[in-house]
Amino acid sequence: MVNVCSLCKKAEMKEVEDQVEEIGTRKTVVTDTICDNCAQRYPDSLVKAHFDHFRYALKLITGETLFFTDADILGDYATLTLDKSPGSDDGFELNAPRGVDVRIDQIVWCIDTGNG
Ligand SMILES: [Zn+2]
Repeated sequence: MVNVCSLCKKAEMKEVEDQVEEIGTRKTVVTDTICDNCAQRYPDSLVKAHFDHFRYALKLITGETLFFTDADILGDYATLTLDKSPGSDDGFELNAPRGVDVRIDQIVWCIDTGNG
């Protein structure tokens, strides 16, 4: 069975069961849709934000904290949809109705804020 990675679109020549074994159960939501290269390249919570609308935060190497609800990952960049809900006011404020493009290698940490 040939799977196609949802992030890089490259064919992944592995059985789904093998990916689940190699990557582990912590990514069960997305393990059957991304390849090993993408699983190693992108933070878990950023990958989750690509598939699952929720509340996330990340810190850039330049010091800003961004709160976001979705991430569209493409190569070296992720386009974040910023979270304007209460509780996200502590971070860096941007007027970015079409999202903000962030370089993957400039992310210090990224979290899924939980509670849902
Ligand atoms: Zn991939």
